[in-house]
Amino acid sequence: MQKQHFIDNAWQGGSSPEMIAVVDPSTGTTFGSLARGTAADIARAVASSRAAVGDTFDGPWGRLSAAQRGRLMMRLAAAVTERNEEFAQIEARDTGKSMKTARVDATALARYFEYYGGAADKLHGDTLPYEHGYTVLTIREPHGVTGHIVPWNYPMQIFGRTVGASLAAGNACVVKPAEDASLSILRLAELAAEIGFPAGALNVVTGYGHEAGAALTAHPGIDHISFTGSTVTGRLVAEAAAKRHCPVTLELGGKSPQLVFDDADLDQALPVIVNAIIQNAGQTCSAGSRVLVQRGIYETVLERLAERFRALRAGPPVLELEMGPLVNEKQYGLVKGFIDAAEAERIPVVARGSVHPEAASAGYYQAAVLFRDVPHTSALAQKEIFGPVLAAMPFEDEAEAIRLANGTDYGLVAGVWTRDGARQFRVARALRCGQVFINNYGAGGGVELPFGGVKSSGHGREKGFEALLGFTVLKTIAIKHG
Ligand code: NAD
Repeated sequence: MQKQHFIDNAWQGGSSPEMIAVVDPSTGTTFGSLARGTAADIARAVASSRAAVGDTFDGPWGRLSAAQRGRLMMRLAAAVTERNEEFAQIEARDTGKSMKTARVDATALARYFEYYGGAADKLHGDTLPYEHGYTVLTIREPHGVTGHIVPWNYPMQIFGRTVGASLAAGNACVVKPAEDASLSILRLAELAAEIGFPAGALNVVTGYGHEAGAALTAHPGIDHISFTGSTVTGRLVAEAAAKRHCPVTLELGGKSPQLVFDDADLDQALPVIVNAIIQNAGQTCSAGSRVLVQRGIYETVLERLAERFRALRAGPPVLELEMGPLVNEKQYGLVKGFIDAAEAERIPVVARGSVHPEAASAGYYQAAVLFRDVPHTSALAQKEIFGPVLAAMPFEDEAEAIRLANGTDYGLVAGVWTRDGARQFRVARALRCGQVFINNYGAGGGVELPFGGVKSSGHGREKGFEALLGFTVLKTIAIKHG
């Protein structure tokens, strides 16, 4: 299986003959290749998207009414829903994620296109009170051509939320998927063409981040960049964007805490806390990777978490276990490195899951691990591991819980488990992050709920109606009556 770029509604060979191997993480074997995109390929895609949107929004995509755009997006949502299993299989093979997670991702992708398709014709400006003799109004216009850099952990969901919102707002999109997970996005672009999206509305160029990704970020024809990925790369993207004053949304990493107070309903909390770290084998930006537990219930919580951790299995996607393998050898090495270093520091392991006997030995399987008494300053408590590793630590009171929760460079998501209503609000307001969940975590995905970080977790908001606003430019028009 050899995949080219998808530009102008057609498969197009790259300017370089070099290809990137596509590896199945559950076996470590290569099963295809991707075009290794260059700056020339990016330039071709940007020119195609510019023609689609038109210099004055008069191109075949730019001149569609909001309702027409929305209708096309709804059609794409329906087409993805019909092909849920096909998309799930593509993603499971490409990224190693369990079929269960892959199906959820395909469902969420369709839901994003449905949500933003429905929102396209509800995005409007205002009329503003002003001096006598004037009428003043604001119009929300698209940026033009937007660039989207997508990571490998949730390609379909992240595509849905960034490209969905951008298309709905009237932009044409150039997407650079992750080199480890491009197949579902390529198929999606092909499907969009099949159901009638005009050529250039959605172009996909595959390749490495430092080549195709960097070329997209630096291209003067890109009017807005949406980047989802690591904090380190996010900084490079922001620097490149700043050089030409290009607006940028950054969705970066996290070290999100779960705060468990002594009045929490543990039957409700514990399964959610476990799921929040093992979902997608821990390769989730909003993973709940720290569990802060009030001293009086610390031992009980650890005992009950340990029981659950011992039952967790990692195995090939087809077995539909709790976890699949990690995405690639590099990620496997990184996660293992954190675990080995923590053990060398003598941070106690409470429990480990297992790797299923049917898992190929060449696959990148990592059993889940629960650590306790993790020092707040240790790497385990401060760094994003991006694997199924949960760091538990005790706290005495609310003030300490908040201090620990806020005490990392990140600020993406937090979970708070307490039945005390006043405390729910106090703690939620004191946490420095983009989303707080009280007695739940993630609200089941929440396509409608604005998402994003503070500090090193990034800036700008995706998901919900808020994301649509970010993909527009507000223009004020003041009319003096004759
Ligand atoms: P990464 O930063 O290495 O790669 C992300 C994307 O950026 C890939 O498509 C890659 O090719 C591209 N890229 C790499 N170098 C580039 C460069 N110099 N210029 C432009 N693009 C470049 O991250 P990753 O390892 O693929 O993903 C894992 C990270 O993503 C984690 O830190 C995770 O927390 C974060 N993430 C955040 C969110 C969120 O919404 N906050 C969601 C998913 C993942």
